Amino acid sequence: MFLHILCSFCVIYTLALCVQTQSVEDEEAIDLSHLGSKLFQNPNFEFSKNLNADYPEEQGPYLQGDLLIPTGNAKNGMKSESYRWKNGEIPYVIRGRFSSTEMSLIQNAFNQYHKSTCLKFIPRRSAQSDYVAIDNSQSGCWSSVGRVGGEQVVNLQSPGCVTKIGTVIHELLHAVGFLHEQNREERDKFVSIINSNVRTGYEINFKKASPGETTGYGVGYDYGSVMHYSAKAFSKNGQPTINAKQTTKEQMGQREGFSKKDIEKINKMYKCKRPTAESDPSILTSSEAPSSESSFLSNIFQAIFPSSNMDEEEMIEEQNQLLRL
Ligand SMILES: [Zn+2]
Repeated sequence: MFLHILCSFCVIYTLALCVQTQSVEDEEAIDLSHLGSKLFQNPNFEFSKNLNADYPEEQGPYLQGDLLIPTGNAKNGMKSESYRWKNGEIPYVIRGRFSSTEMSLIQNAFNQYHKSTCLKFIPRRSAQSDYVAIDNSQSGCWSSVGRVGGEQVVNLQSPGCVTKIGTVIHELLHAVGFLHEQNREERDKFVSIINSNVRTGYEINFKKASPGETTGYGVGYDYGSVMHYSAKAFSKNGQPTINAKQTTKEQMGQREGFSKKDIEKINKMYKCKRPTAESDPSILTSSEAPSSESSFLSNIFQAIFPSSNMDEEEMIEEQNQLLRL
């Protein structure tokens, strides 16, 4: 009997090592160093309470309007890189007090991700240490870039940031690991920045990336990206700050949802592969989708320690709470 138990633990330990090794390989880093120290601040509670719902993310005092890693969180403090989410799974909690309409909008944003990519927003289980807390208790729309470790807030001030689905998708896409389209290194071929119309002190928001600092994953410049600024972003006089250099039918700053290229880029970053779900062929799966080893390990734990079902129950309760809101 003793040998049997010992053997079981050996199998568990070996499998755990395999899973851990795979997870480390999955953790592709996202370089944040070119964004500089302004990325690290604390939320500004003095910020305007009357956000323009068309482009609320462009009105913040934060880097590029809405990029922020709060310095109050010591675990995340001043790290110049973040990471992709393991297996494309993004655990979340709803921290803010959103109206039922706002909750529906957030859920619809999740659905757009689930429909078009292999990313999965899942209610956080207690064992998951890295997760997104969706909040509205602070001012402005803002998010960290990528997975920074521990709890990371995506703040969606109500009602300004939860009026258009594209605004929610935009902020979540920062948490996924994406930056603004017009700051790409090759943007000068596609847009011109009219510095004379930019508000004094906000010029840094238009600083483009240097070669090699970021990647477009081989996907071309996209005027219609949900991550592109609007033509009058950070304007001091109502005149355009961004002019398209090429003829395009796309609207810079659209916030209706993903563009085709947004989806293409996400699926390349997370190595999404073929559609799998037989019930919904539009759902893609990650090549690093939850491993069979992980499921097998979970089954073994559950078989030996039946009480470990608690996490699952917590998850269901969390989902129920979400639906009751
Ligand atoms: Zn943004």
